[in-house]
Amino acid sequence: MTETLADFRRRVADFLAHHGCPAGAAPSRSRRPADHVAAARVHQRALADAGLAGITWPVEVGGLGLGPEYRQAFAEESAGFETFSAVFTIGLGMCGPVLLALGTADQRSRYLPPLLRADEVWCQLFSEPGAGSDLAGLTTTAVPDDDGGWRIRGQKVWTTYAHHSDRALLLARTDPGKAKHRGITMFVLDMTAPGVTVRPLRQATGDAEFNEVFLDDVRVGPDDVVGAVDEGWRAATLMLMNERVALADNPIGSPVTLDAVVALANRTGRTTDPVVRKAVADAYVAQQQAELFARRIAGEVRVGRDPGALASIGKLAAGRLATQVSALALEVAGPDAVAWDPADPDGGLWAYGELYAPSLSIAGGTEQIQRTVLGERVLGLPREPQADRDVPFRELRRG
Ligand SMILES: Cc1cc2nc3c(=O)[nH]c(=O)nc-3n(C[C@H](O)[C@H](O)[C@H](O)COP(=O)(O)OP(=O)(O)OC[C@H]3O[C@@H](n4cnc5c(N)ncnc54)[C@H](O)[C@@H]3O)c2cc1C
Repeated sequence: MTETLADFRRRVADFLAHHGCPAGAAPSRSRRPADHVAAARVHQRALADAGLAGITWPVEVGGLGLGPEYRQAFAEESAGFETFSAVFTIGLGMCGPVLLALGTADQRSRYLPPLLRADEVWCQLFSEPGAGSDLAGLTTTAVPDDDGGWRIRGQKVWTTYAHHSDRALLLARTDPGKAKHRGITMFVLDMTAPGVTVRPLRQATGDAEFNEVFLDDVRVGPDDVVGAVDEGWRAATLMLMNERVALADNPIGSPVTLDAVVALANRTGRTTDPVVRKAVADAYVAQQQAELFARRIAGEVRVGRDPGALASIGKLAAGRLATQVSALALEVAGPDAVAWDPADPDGGLWAYGELYAPSLSIAGGTEQIQRTVLGERVLGLPREPQADRDVPFRELRRG
């Protein structure tokens, strides 16, 4: 018998009382990134042990097989707690849904249960030095080998958490004779396979969360193709849609939350300053908007509809909110934001937030690209010229 919503809520509340980590109390990404990843694993495993992981995923892959209202209830109960989503967003929010929709029965039963239990971390091997916004311009190749598998050569970049990952979903060109959006295939890649080299890239914050990944003749088997050969663009679009949804669902995505800034304002006596009060009120309204967009987007996804341009609005709203809140933090912290007491463990947080926030307007598709989507799909403006859409990729490269 299906558990009632009220019983489920009680179970979530009970879990959070024992294992929940209040927002802000988790190991900070800025201070000990490795501790943050370890804490995320422990948290996800505890969720699975408590029978709360994969709420809407099918029972046969380790999920609960429950309806979307249960996921919403979980989100409501766990508001104010650390979700560690940054570590598992890619696996649970992006790779999982693609494998559920397009993976074979064998791929689903092999990969999804360890993902839900945090036994494996996944990353997204899409972007390349010459292919970001224009992702279909990717040049990493997969060439068939003699025993039905493939050999992969190329380079990926900006791969979040690749240095902590066990597996990835990777895009590679399998037929350069086809137009650029065709002839691409998605593969599951074992990140420990011979020929995979991961090099962390240091960001302005001082952390190294993303990486360069070099693929030097890496072998993947015939069973590692996700969906159909040469039809990887469909899988890629599905993953990108889930990425925008996941990013919108996590409206701050930065360790500097509005609650943390309000707490700082209370501590430092800035709450009587009318300029600060107005900025806090504005940020609060923006946060409510971002959360409502995220809820609408999640609602569309739950009933199996592509949220389309709504996901772009949600992503824009989430990115702008992060910028607004980090700027507010600097205003409230004043000179302490740049010249903090070294003895204060949270002293560098506000500077960290300011340096981190711009990345949210790039990751998952830049603001300019989201605006193009809105211009074309919502405002009905003329589409961007797509003269190269039907030209074989090989000829484009020659030209
Ligand atoms: C924090 C972070 C994490 C990331 N994680 C991953 C990951 O895990 N896996 C992964 O595959 N990728 C990841 N990325 C890469 C991300 O998807 C790309 O950075 C993004 O798509 C932009 O591509 P680009 O960096 O090549 O910039 P470009 O595409 O070269 O863009 C440069 C500038 O030109 C503008 N521009 C480009 N084309 C147009 C156009 N047609 N119209 C208007 N303006 C345009 C862009 O808006 C941007 O301002 C991550 C990026 C960041 C910042």
